[in-house]
Amino acid sequence: MNSRNEPDHSPPAPDKDRLIADLEARLARATALAEEYRALAQASFEGIGFFDQDMRCVACNETALELFGYERCEFLGLHALDMVAPESHAAVRQRIESQEHRPYELTALRKDGSTFPAEVHDKRGVLHGRGVRISALRDITRRKRMEQELQDALNEQKIIFANTKVGLMLLRGGRRLAKANKALADLFGYESPEEMTGLDMRRLHLDENAFMEFGRQHYKTLADTAQLHIEYRLRRKDGTPVWCMLSGQAMDRNKPADLSKGVLWVVDDITRIKDQEERLRTLACTDYLTGVHNRRHFLELAGRELSRRQRHGGECAVLLIDLDRFKTVNDRLGHPAGDAVLKTFARRCCGTLREIDIFGRLGGEEFAVFLPETGLEGGRVAAERIRQRMDGMETRTPGGNITATVSIGVASTECGGNSVEELITRADQVLYRAKRLGRNRVETEQGDTP
Ligand code: GH3
Ligand code: MG
Ligand code: MG
Repeated sequence: MNSRNEPDHSPPAPDKDRLIADLEARLARATALAEEYRALAQASFEGIGFFDQDMRCVACNETALELFGYERCEFLGLHALDMVAPESHAAVRQRIESQEHRPYELTALRKDGSTFPAEVHDKRGVLHGRGVRISALRDITRRKRMEQELQDALNEQKIIFANTKVGLMLLRGGRRLAKANKALADLFGYESPEEMTGLDMRRLHLDENAFMEFGRQHYKTLADTAQLHIEYRLRRKDGTPVWCMLSGQAMDRNKPADLSKGVLWVVDDITRIKDQEERLRTLACTDYLTGVHNRRHFLELAGRELSRRQRHGGECAVLLIDLDRFKTVNDRLGHPAGDAVLKTFARRCCGTLREIDIFGRLGGEEFAVFLPETGLEGGRVAAERIRQRMDGMETRTPGGNITATVSIGVASTECGGNSVEELITRADQVLYRAKRLGRNRVETEQGDTP
């Protein structure tokens, strides 16, 4: 009621204590919120700065001060370019002018003049009602060092790949060549590694069958992440074969490996080694004088053939051949003349034999022939052919022309015999009889006198 006794329509007087309590509560909430935001900003691993229209810093977090080495009072008011090394100024100016907001990299400049690589994210924002540019900056020294190390390792690998003397080929996405080095191109007769890029592996295999078989045999092992070492014949660009030592490994280290991610093959040309091996093998099997099989190899081949006959049936014959009175050849005309006769005999004898017959020099002037699918009579006919081939035919020797004859003993599995040695022993006995009966003749087991 007022003094004139009129009704009082004004709101009831505010409760002062309630108002204060309300204000205090709001203040506490605002303080808590501010504290929370500050803590969040300080906790950031990135340095965060707010920049005004002139690109001067108006606010920042602790991380920014730590990163750049400034006190807050020094940092605030700095121009954005004061925190950037000169080589990055142009890039930063261009960023400021453009609306580009994608992260970018620059070289940051500390108060002490040292620099560090940084990645910056820019954003537009509002602070105290004014438009600001918010920059979050991350020190990427470690990442850069790792990138550099990776790059160095890649460069190293590139140099090794290009300059190594063994061929290297990386297959990807199936059996296609993704990358080759110069040594590989040289090995297979291609102009350059680039010419080989994209090559289907079929082109390096001798034929389609070899290509398929190689895949079947070896790709499973590769998928089990095992390293493979294979001696294998591949094909040059001109079609000629080349012996290679192939060492392969899947690039994917999972088990089983995903081979489409890559298989690295190290390829070494071993043609010379293989040729040498072949030469040694031939030497080890061949009689140095006549070029026919030596004793050891003759026995091995004949033994193999005899076992086959024993399994599948059929007769075999063995001829034991000895040159007659050979000692006198040497005595009259000299050892080289004797050698010439041995060589002539070997050549003439070979001329009478079939492809499947096995002929060898057992030693001295003694030779043997193993005749598969041949009985005693067949053996006798073959032996007679050999004897006649020598009889009456002159051999030119360094000491003069000479006629040499042979005596031959024939044994056959028809009369038993479990080994080549046994057949030879029996043929030797028959040969002895041929010698006894005058030489230059063929004797067979059947005619053997007890
Ligand atoms: P036979 O008719 O009884 O077989 O008389 P032979 O003189 O042939 O028999 P013998 O076993 O007495 O002599 C074999 C000779 O073969 C003796 C050896 O000098 C000669 N001889 C063995 N190996 C070689 C060789 O590689 N070269 C030469 N030139 N002679 C060899
Ligand atoms: Mg003899
Ligand atoms: Mg003799």
